[in-house]
Amino acid sequence: MSVFHSTVTRRDFMKALGLAGAGIGAAAALTVPQFHDLDELAATGPGFKRDWYVKERDLFNPTIEIDWGVMKRYNGRTQSQSTGVLQQYPSYNNGVDDRKAAGNAMAAARLANQDPGYSQKFQALNNGKNNRATYPTWTFTGTYSDSKSYGSTNTSLGLPKWTGTPEEAYNMFYSAMRYYGYTWLGVTEIEDHWRNQLFDLYSTTGTNSMYTFENVDAPYIAADPTGVSKEKWVIPTNVQIYGVAFSEAASPEARKCPSAISNSNNSIVDKASFLRNRMAGFLNVLGYHIFGNTGDQSMPLHTGIMGPLTGYAEASRQNNYTLTSENGPHHNDFTMLTDFAMSPTKPMDAGIWKFCAGCATCAKHCMGRAISLDKEPTYDIPTTDGLTSTFHNPGPKAFWLNWVACATNREACGGDCWPQKGGRMCWIQCPMGNDKAAMIHALVRTTVSQTSIFNSFFATMEEKMSYGIYEPDDWWKMSLPVYGQDSTIGAAKGGYAK
Ligand code: SF4
Ligand code: SF4
Repeated sequence: MSVFHSTVTRRDFMKALGLAGAGIGAAAALTVPQFHDLDELAATGPGFKRDWYVKERDLFNPTIEIDWGVMKRYNGRTQSQSTGVLQQYPSYNNGVDDRKAAGNAMAAARLANQDPGYSQKFQALNNGKNNRATYPTWTFTGTYSDSKSYGSTNTSLGLPKWTGTPEEAYNMFYSAMRYYGYTWLGVTEIEDHWRNQLFDLYSTTGTNSMYTFENVDAPYIAADPTGVSKEKWVIPTNVQIYGVAFSEAASPEARKCPSAISNSNNSIVDKASFLRNRMAGFLNVLGYHIFGNTGDQSMPLHTGIMGPLTGYAEASRQNNYTLTSENGPHHNDFTMLTDFAMSPTKPMDAGIWKFCAGCATCAKHCMGRAISLDKEPTYDIPTTDGLTSTFHNPGPKAFWLNWVACATNREACGGDCWPQKGGRMCWIQCPMGNDKAAMIHALVRTTVSQTSIFNSFFATMEEKMSYGIYEPDDWWKMSLPVYGQDSTIGAAKGGYAK
């Protein structure tokens, strides 16, 4: 926090915008005790922090009273989560079979009657919840060919195929995805743009697959007739297929330190495999399927394309990495395909792409000189070492990244891009990735979305205030979000508001 009180304070920053005092007064009025500036308001420190009105009591003196004279060590074998223990009590044995039968009948009636809370969508949600990462190896055809391994299906529960509007479908799918742990959702209808221009021809070498479209009802896998790869992965065109991009918020806090944990992914990046199984279980109970994506190298749709085209993120100077309007580059994405008809989501404009043109902070901090310092994006893909840059696809007017320079620099730095083992500087230093909770960053984001006249000023101020990086050991002293991610992103009023 000390940097906030140094040469350029947040107050100075707000003064420069002609807004000094506006936010502070409002915040102080709501909060007891009074805060003198934004730094005090933001100060939290390490460990679990409760509200100011919660008092601390003495050790062994909780609010419930205890007679320490009679307290003895407890025999855990007599605890009541054992049926054997329950059966020692007559009231448990009294009518046990009738009671269980009545309970089972009640559950069956709730399902049959589709009672609120037990309706098909809740059955779907529950089925997905029970699917964890230990389910069978995922193949390209996903639950089209193996829905029974993912718990219940609509037919096993005696339910019809769910029907509703695309908007209702999107809302259900989005709610389930949030429940299972992901933050943003992008949806697109697979049509000719995707089939002819956006789908990869082949997956990464080693994954050995060719993506192709055929007039069939369900995806299937066969030998690749071109001989370039081992298999062809066929996407059906007899049914309308939708592309979905899931993106998970990751924490800027965990990455701002050059350290062994400041790599691009947080501690729960493997949540992607959990989510795949869970969304499969969810859709199966509605009578639909999810498929594609057998791993990082075989995403059916590029995340760098899906973000800008489906609107959960905008393109950035970092080129492959997109920026969300909530926390910039700090997100992990993966894509899949489904026959569940949802309303597509549209591209967004939060002023981020324009901001990148005047910023270039990531490029200045990239030791590998991999990120373009050009003032304007271009359609022309630069060569690399005088050779064609095969890692780029023409079409976008972009700031083109030199991937070879990026890889070379990371190899030279022990796997990352800082001399000692450390974080991705382009992510760490990006002003759009700074703490969403801080009032000043909310102000910057709002301003940037409306006008670009302050863009260069914001970019310079962010650099001067050195938000991006701090000493690794400071991380242990911070107030940390669970799982290294801000789960309130996208949750109105902190969550559960309608
Ligand atoms: S990961 Fe590191 S080397 Fe690669 S572009 Fe980002 S800052 Fe540069
Ligand atoms: S550091 Fe600046 S130029 Fe780079 S991605 Fe972030 S906003 Fe864009």
